[in-house]
Amino acid sequence: MPKLKFLKSAVKLTDFPSDSMPEVAFAGRSNAGKSSIINALARNRVAQVSSTPGKTRLLNLFTHEEKYRIVDMPGYGYAARAGDEVKSWKKMIETFLLERENLKAIVLIMDIRREWAEEEQMLLDLALRKNLHLAVIINKSDKLSKSAVIIKKDKLLQELNLEFCLPFSVLNKTGVKELENKLFDWLRTMTKASSGDSTNPT
Ligand code: GDP
Repeated sequence: MPKLKFLKSAVKLTDFPSDSMPEVAFAGRSNAGKSSIINALARNRVAQVSSTPGKTRLLNLFTHEEKYRIVDMPGYGYAARAGDEVKSWKKMIETFLLERENLKAIVLIMDIRREWAEEEQMLLDLALRKNLHLAVIINKSDKLSKSAVIIKKDKLLQELNLEFCLPFSVLNKTGVKELENKLFDWLRTMTKASSGDSTNPT
């Protein structure tokens, strides 16, 4: 039985459930492998793996065992997009990340061969501003040598002072367990933060 289930698609904040379940946003440049990673976590094809990058405009919600939700954000940086579309992506992301109270963490997915760019920096700045956890996943690590992967990871960790940076390969299934552990760690702190100290004897 897959632990991660598709819940619904949303276009605006009012389409979101109005409960207190914690949420983790998955964001990344189109074609970085976001859908493939969500499918790897679900061990099933719950998210679309696109042949046309940048097609998805919706926020897709997935529920993990009724404990937390993954919010699949629309991919950014698709070359064929016009200026207005880029603006509307930024607005949508900003609105969601700044205003959605359930949101506790961001998983930022990038292709390991690409440089850190303006959009990634915007997501990092928003995470810092809102005090959200941030994990940077450097996907497609199968495309580089082992030593080049370590160099890239250390460079990002040091230059950006990141909380967590994880080499990942959907192809080789590397990183799945580590990402699940990170989400599990976050979940424990998120649940504690929203329910108070339940270990307190009365
Ligand atoms: P999204 O646009 O970020 O959702 O990216 P997709 O999940 O649709 O993946 C884009 C393309 O990259 C697809 O052709 C995937 O098969 C491929 N891909 C995803 N992850 C990996 C990986 O770890 N290694 C390699 N070599 N290809 C990958």
